[in-house]
Amino acid sequence: MSHRPALLQALPLAPALERRLADTYELHRLPPAGADREAFLAARGAQIECLVTSAAHGFDAALLDALPKLRVISSFGVGLDKLDVAAATARGIPVGYTPDVLNDCVADLAFGLMLAVARRVPEADRYVRAGRWAASTATPASAPFPLGRQVSGARLGILGLGRIGRTIAKRAGGFDMDVRYHSRRPVEGAPWKHEPQLLELARWADFLVVITAGGPETRHLVDDSVLDALGPQGFLVNVARGSVVDEEALVRALQDKRIAGAGLDVFESEPHVPRELFTLENVVMVPHIASATAQTREAMAQRVLDNLTAYFAGQPLPSAAPA
Ligand code: NDP
Repeated sequence: MSHRPALLQALPLAPALERRLADTYELHRLPPAGADREAFLAARGAQIECLVTSAAHGFDAALLDALPKLRVISSFGVGLDKLDVAAATARGIPVGYTPDVLNDCVADLAFGLMLAVARRVPEADRYVRAGRWAASTATPASAPFPLGRQVSGARLGILGLGRIGRTIAKRAGGFDMDVRYHSRRPVEGAPWKHEPQLLELARWADFLVVITAGGPETRHLVDDSVLDALGPQGFLVNVARGSVVDEEALVRALQDKRIAGAGLDVFESEPHVPRELFTLENVVMVPHIASATAQTREAMAQRVLDNLTAYFAGQPLPSAAPA
């Protein structure tokens, strides 16, 4: 390509991806919202031909208005809740994203959180580090540490049986778990039982894993009533979006031990986490790292590049977001 299309990055990218993009495109960084961004868009917005963003950074119609020559968007991640795909489609701009390549990684972390909270792994780690094991007089038979809950053989309810939900369900086979799921429609050919009512799924499940799409349609699907249906023996794991769970209701349920525990990768106002959770032992929290392994991030970066390369070769995007 002799012409180097001007590419706007809405976020700092991994140095390796930036270097590869810089081979082909003229890179520009979008300044943080405010006066600098306004000045940048006024000066350079009309040159930009492609936008690289992420599921977390997204884009809105106002940004598209400031980029009148924009031809293609490539997003790092699979979530569409912060991407105004409809606004892009209305302007004839295709949007690429990175589905599938992160299924394994997110499914792995769902199990990591299930095991961590049910087997009390972080709490047990803190116990050892504090020297409390060495100070304990309990025998191995009486267990020096509170008993956990067995994961293998338990009932796993999955909220959202999409690409990642199905991967989690397959993992569950290795744990001899009984699997059921809830989504708006049953998935054709899926060997697991579809439960049309989320409340019924929660009532049945020992572990409820949330892996639906985010956005207004799924906001607070998991509310007080779902948490009460899950009950004092039930665990919640959320690897989807914080918005799917009513966080205030979850904090109350954990404080009052109306559910047994929670494993959380995502929160309603990231990076802010309710302070009440910091002192609770029945919750395990990680900072939105479900796809964060070197292998998966590399595969996602490749998809970001592939979508752009295909566009400039006059081909359809290999991973186009549904319009
Ligand atoms: P898919 O689009 O393949 O699956 C989404 C699932 O959600 C479908 O089963 C869909 O079924 C279900 N769903 C959507 N709306 C509702 C609803 N109102 N009620 C019940 N079920 C609903 O997406 P993926 O599996 O690829 O990804 C799922 C989500 O995981 C992403 O949207 C993203 O937000 C999140 N994610 C989080 C990551 C992290 O780092 N924590 C990393 C990657 C993804 P149906 O339409 O039949 O209802």
